[in-house]
Amino acid sequence: MVLDLRTIYVVSALTLLVLGSVHLATFATGRFGRWPAWWGASYIVLGTGTVLVCLRDIVPYSVSIQAGNVLTIAGYLLSFFAIRVLADRPVSYRSCLLTIVCLSLPVLVLPTGAVAVSARLFYISAVCCLCDLAVLREGIGIYRRERLFSAGLLAWLYLPTAALFLVRAVMAATGEIGGPDPYGTTMVHSWMASTGVIFLAIRSMLIVLMAAERSRGELVAQAHHDPLTGALNRGGLAQRLPLRDAQSVALLIVDIDHFKQLNDQFGHAAGDVVLKLFATAARGVLRPDDLLSRHGGDEFIVLLKDVSEDGAIAVAERMRAAFADIVSRHQGPDVAPTLSIGVAIGGSASADFETLLARADAALYASKRMGRDRVEASADREQAA
Ligand code: GH3
Ligand code: MG
Repeated sequence: MVLDLRTIYVVSALTLLVLGSVHLATFATGRFGRWPAWWGASYIVLGTGTVLVCLRDIVPYSVSIQAGNVLTIAGYLLSFFAIRVLADRPVSYRSCLLTIVCLSLPVLVLPTGAVAVSARLFYISAVCCLCDLAVLREGIGIYRRERLFSAGLLAWLYLPTAALFLVRAVMAATGEIGGPDPYGTTMVHSWMASTGVIFLAIRSMLIVLMAAERSRGELVAQAHHDPLTGALNRGGLAQRLPLRDAQSVALLIVDIDHFKQLNDQFGHAAGDVVLKLFATAARGVLRPDDLLSRHGGDEFIVLLKDVSEDGAIAVAERMRAAFADIVSRHQGPDVAPTLSIGVAIGGSASADFETLLARADAALYASKRMGRDRVEASADREQAA
């Protein structure tokens, strides 16, 4: 099988230019944020560099090789900054430009002519290999932070290309590739180049898949949370039930006392702040596995796993103290809302939830009847499942 290296480079260049144009067109719609602009720029610059390298012996050396190599490195490095933008990590234009200039300009000072072809191939391959490993690291970071399957897949796709560049760097260093006619050398070089084109196309697909997976996750999270307090809404809570990993569950219903009056006296905006402060105070006393949900209006549900009744009452008391403290710090002494809390303990099976809710609700109303600003436990007892 004959694989002509120059033809493969032409195919690579066209692939890169088309993919880059698609990313830039996507960016131009304004619906996808900044990241497609960075990927588009990376593909277009890399594609242009590859076009120039294809024109070796057709256009002057300074254009085909020197400018072509500078653009190849610049385009490759841009992919690293593109993944940082996709990861929502800070990217400064100055450090981006500085990195590109520092790493791409050495190709201009390498000696010209056939003797330097291997050195040139070695340098570019080494930079591209390191860049792929840096992208791999960023991709794994996104996978770990956001649990995006496609980010993990994208990250690991950079490993084979890093390996290809490493092999190419070693072959260039040992003089196996390069020499007076770089396009007429070994089949291994041609196979590596054609494999690279396949990876370029798959990467582009995975970048889009990752953006889709992320935006779906964001939409699901939005649909399951209350936008004012960030607590779960009813749908979000229902989606997490039953709590299978818990032996028993304590359900707390928390209601702010005389909240209507607070709204009337200080305004709806002050009421909103108090609701947010409650959510902050509650999160401060809960464990990471506990659930906080806004049931509606000024009423919240808290689910605690594997606690005794005394433990649940202690959490409720801590919540009241933390709420009083945070409100007095943020709103001053004039605004001093209190909490009434009803507590019920039961098994963790889903059928128990409604019963538990009714029992906690009865306890809440008992606490309201008894003068508010207090915690009441349900009088009924249910055995933990
Ligand atoms: P009680 O002590 O008996 O609980 O009296 P209350 O005034 O708190 O009565 P209730 O719990 O029924 O009042 C809830 C009020 O919460 C009524 C409604 O105007 C107000 N509210 C509901 N949602 C919001 C909201 O998102 N923001 C604000 N600021 N107020 C809200
Ligand atoms: Mg209330």
